[in-house]
Amino acid sequence: MSDKKRIYFSREEMFEMNRDRLLERGVTIEDIAIIAFRQQGKYNPDISLATCIESVEKILSYRDIFHIVQLGIEIDRLTEEGVFRSPIQDIMRADLGMFGIDEILGLNIASMYGVIGQTNFGDIDVNKPGIVKKLNDDGKGKQCHTFLDDIVGALAAAASTRVAQIMSEDEAKRDPHYTPIKLDLKD
Ligand code: MG
Repeated sequence: MSDKKRIYFSREEMFEMNRDRLLERGVTIEDIAIIAFRQQGKYNPDISLATCIESVEKILSYRDIFHIVQLGIEIDRLTEEGVFRSPIQDIMRADLGMFGIDEILGLNIASMYGVIGQTNFGDIDVNKPGIVKKLNDDGKGKQCHTFLDDIVGALAAAASTRVAQIMSEDEAKRDPHYTPIKLDLKD
């Protein structure tokens, strides 16, 4: 058997590793889903938290999201340990507002769901609902959440936008002029 380290993982494995890393940093899937639920609930009063949870889970299983979540969390952890060299160590430790690389990763996640995803991320970034505010506040002490708050906000924005897509799909299919087409679209 080869002792080569694995670098390819299944979607189920990536989901589990993301879930566990987030949990280590004090973030649950439900924390993220609640932000999506509240954001999308303003436009769609009939959405359910279960659909938001399902959306967060699905998003956490995508390969590009996996790489961002895993990398962002490691950068925060290593910043807490003080292993980077100055000046970038101090810039990330201070969560400098003009740093912006954390927002780049957040925007990249949100962009999966197009311009609406990015707008929803902007809203969460500015208003800091729920767990995003907690991460932001806790990051001012011993912990470092420079990357995590943006990643979590972006995951919520992506989930919120996915729920809006599902609602639009349902609406289209309720139309009496809609004729079903047999086609299996994987997501
Ligand atoms: Mg940040």
